Order: sequence, then structure tokens, then C-alpha cells
Amino acid sequence: MNESEFEDLPIPEKCPYCLERQIPKECFSKPYPDSAENLINIYDVDDLPDIFRVFQCLKCNKFFMQVYTIGTNNEGYLSYIPTEYELALDNIDIEINQSIKDLSPDFVEIYSEAYQAERYGLKRICGVGYRKAIEFLIKDYAIDNNPIDTPKISEMALGAVINEYLSDIPKLKNMAKVAAWIGNDETHYLKQHPSKDISDMKQFTKVTVMFIEAEISAQETLVEAKNPTFAGIKEDAVSDNDLPF
Ligand SMILES: [Zn+2]
Repeated sequence: MNESEFEDLPIPEKCPYCLERQIPKECFSKPYPDSAENLINIYDVDDLPDIFRVFQCLKCNKFFMQVYTIGTNNEGYLSYIPTEYELALDNIDIEINQSIKDLSPDFVEIYSEAYQAERYGLKRICGVGYRKAIEFLIKDYAIDNNPIDTPKISEMALGAVINEYLSDIPKLKNMAKVAAWIGNDETHYLKQHPSKDISDMKQFTKVTVMFIEAEISAQETLVEAKNPTFAGIKEDAVSDNDLPF
């Protein structure tokens, strides 16, 4: 098989990262494994190699690969079956640490879906998704800190959860409130905060995530500091009053 035969392979219609429709730039094509290159025989399909090709998106410039499995069609001619793209759901635009993934896997999943909707250009739908993601994050955080109130928190309106369960951390409370306010606009018929949009809500969501991560980290450090093995401190030697924070 020579290079020119690759020209017949179907070219991906869109970039799997930014989803822009286009004829991407072809960078590289190669049979795999190499050793099978000379064994190609249309009567012996099992010996046919896969072909992989690397493309570059004309919009976002990212590289992506398409693999073709070679087989024969009903008439016995060679056919090339491209693999389906799998969009990486965790490929999102905010950084999410493991502590948040453990706290609220629903938040991560819903945010990812909203982000995919936004990338597809579904601007009116993605806002509702981001709002839902915020609700799961805040409620899961409140439940994590108040497990006994799980049924109550699950049924409460988001605003009430923010007021009642985030009052110890005023900055987090305010940040979550703003994110929820803007988010509510995305779900309601009338917009209450017309000057704010999805990018504002995402920015506040991002900061809310950072605050919650910092809170979890601080709580873990406190627990560790009370551990008798921490810095060689003897048991009973550390009370809450002794801690330097
Ligand atoms: Zn792209």
C-alpha cells in the first residue's frame, strides 16, 4: 500500500475538541503495524493493518488521530471503517481537584455536560446545566458537613441551603449566591440580572470551587494537626486552643 491509497480514506468532518466543521489539515498517515505493510491481500483480511492518520484542526490547531480498520465490503472491495470519536467528558475549562471529584461526582458530570452543550453552541441550554451543576456542588458540600441533615438539604431550595449552611464562610456564601443568582436567570422566563451572563456565572462557579477546595484542604490539615503522630507531638498535647490557626 502506498501513500496515494490513503487519499481515498474518508476525512473527519469536524474537530473532536472544538467541534468546528471543516476539512482538517492532514499531517501524517501510516499503516499499523508497520510489518503488515507488505502483507496486504484483500483475500486475507485478517492480515490487513489498521491505518492511523493524524490531523490538525484549522480552528483550534489541536492534533487528533483517526484510526481506520480495513475490511472488505459486500462486493469484496476494500473498505475503510473510521473509528468513532469519543469526546472526553472530563475535558472541561475549569480545574477540578480530586477533592471536588470525591465530594460531588454529580457536579463534575453535570458541569461537563453543560460545557459540551456550550461547545456545541447550545447557549440557552448550557446555562441551565451550569445552574444545576452549582446546585449539586453546594448541596453535596452542605451534606458532607451536615450528614444528619441530608434529607432536609436535598429538598431545600438552593438559596436557602446557601443561607443556612454556608453562613460560617461569608466569602463562599456570597460567591455561591452570585453564581446561583445568575444561574437562576438561565432557567427563568424573565432575566433578573441582564448585565450578567454565562461567562460571569462560570467565573463565580470557578471561584466557588476554589473556596470549597480550600475549605476541604483546611479541614483535612486540621484533622492531621490533631493526629498525635503529627510532627512528633504526644497524644493529648494538642487542643483546639494550641493550634496556630
Ligand atoms: Zn478544533
